[in-house]
Amino acid sequence: MSRFSPSPVGGPGAGSRRCPWGAPNTTSISCSLADVMSEQLAKELQLEEENAAFPEVVAVAEGPFITGENIDTSSDLMLAQMLQMEFDREYDAQLRREEKKINGDSKVSISFENYRKVHPYDSDSSEDEVDWQDTRHDPYRADKPTTTPRKGFIGKGKDITTKHDEVVCGRKNTARMENFAPEFQVGDGIGMDLKLSNQVFNALKQHAYSEERRSARLHEKKEHSTAEKAVDPKTRLLLYKMVNAGMLETITGCISTGKESVVFHAYGGKSATEDKVIPPECAIKVFKTTLNEFKNRDKYIKDDYRFKDRFSKLNPRKIIRMWAEKEMHNLTRMQNAGIPCPQVVILKKHVLVMSFIGQDQVPAPKLKDVTLSSEDMKKAYYQILNMMQQLYKECNLVHADLSEYNMLWHDGKVWLIDVSQSVEPTHPHGLEFLFRDCRNVSQFFQKGGVAEALNERELFNAVSGLNITADNEVDFQAEIEALEKMNEDHVQNHGKKLSMFSNDGDPPIYDE
Ligand code: ADP
Ligand code: MG
Repeated sequence: MSRFSPSPVGGPGAGSRRCPWGAPNTTSISCSLADVMSEQLAKELQLEEENAAFPEVVAVAEGPFITGENIDTSSDLMLAQMLQMEFDREYDAQLRREEKKINGDSKVSISFENYRKVHPYDSDSSEDEVDWQDTRHDPYRADKPTTTPRKGFIGKGKDITTKHDEVVCGRKNTARMENFAPEFQVGDGIGMDLKLSNQVFNALKQHAYSEERRSARLHEKKEHSTAEKAVDPKTRLLLYKMVNAGMLETITGCISTGKESVVFHAYGGKSATEDKVIPPECAIKVFKTTLNEFKNRDKYIKDDYRFKDRFSKLNPRKIIRMWAEKEMHNLTRMQNAGIPCPQVVILKKHVLVMSFIGQDQVPAPKLKDVTLSSEDMKKAYYQILNMMQQLYKECNLVHADLSEYNMLWHDGKVWLIDVSQSVEPTHPHGLEFLFRDCRNVSQFFQKGGVAEALNERELFNAVSGLNITADNEVDFQAEIEALEKMNEDHVQNHGKKLSMFSNDGDPPIYDE
């Protein structure tokens, strides 16, 4: 069939339109200026526009020939959607087979749910499909909606029926349900002589659209993010491998879901190498792969000299792995200095396994949640003062998020955790971070009734060995910033080789 055939009727211009499928459309509107101005013509044009916006379902013409009037190209779209749906179903079936094969009868099972293409509401819709073509006589078959002629009404006198007639509209609405996405279940509605009111039709249409969007959104979002508590398939695979390798015995459950990480408890298994002993209980910190929470943490890592060169070359996903890597390095430094903290077991991408602080699946309480005797409170304070100094002098680190939220009370002492954001003191904001840590610690212990607790400025000097003399917070902070600036200038002028603050109480001197 030729797509374009010459139109025998209707001269050039004069509003004649060609039908792309061959049959000519013979209607032509030619009119004078007076006609153009006439109300009747305005109405006709209005009707034409409406018809174009809401094409009516036209009764199928008798005979085998496709004419310009009965062709409905929207079926191409429908066909494509149906093929896509069929593909999606097959894809999901294959996914289910792989899921089964991978899981076998393993202790940890991996769900491929997030990879499915078909929305769960219709995943089993194929089961109740009925082949209506086998039914010779269908008692529910609807009368096709009648078309309203151009003039906008049929009949005469009081039997006049306009296109706004309730029954006509209802039938049209029912027929229009065919335009919904194929996965939207309208049951036998289309086949029956249903008359959907505009209100019902609009509600259905709205629902059909939002379901379509929801399906697409679910697929897109769940695949890439680490959901609250649950983890994405890639992380699950990592965890599964750890259990399968025998390194972990079982993963028992989630201890904490924070903004940036999810922490699980696990029982340790056996190490592949003899020199490494896996703790009986482990904490698994999964750094969230949703990137937005990490955006505002840029400054911790971007300016950290240890990571500076790499930062600019990395994509956001890799930056998240770097957080995990940072936590591992920092914990190792602390471990080497003898500071009570989790011991690193293994790091795999954005998943860090460490020893569990607590017992029998119960994590040690945070300092903010535990009520200590005044004796223990004082003991805890001196221990923290000591740890902060060690951290600064021996590990060359500032915690940068030190507070009663990141200190656990276990075995009669304080344990430091959550050091992914810790930086070296020479970090451009390192001293500011230290001052903030000092403020948190001072306030907590002063409120907790430890009379010996230094104020934040004294604590800062005691930890850093610096001797900032300002006696009010504003001036103190100004001096801190001036020191940071000096350090930054020094780094700029002498390359990025580390410069050290003196730790012996003198004003800062730099050495290369
Ligand atoms: P976040 O960055 O989400 O604050 P944290 O490292 O502070 O991550 O861990 C969140 C919570 O998980 C902690 O407050 C603590 O209760 C628990 N937790 C983390 N690591 C351990 C661990 N090694 N042992 C026991 N509990 C832990
Ligand atoms: Mg924390």
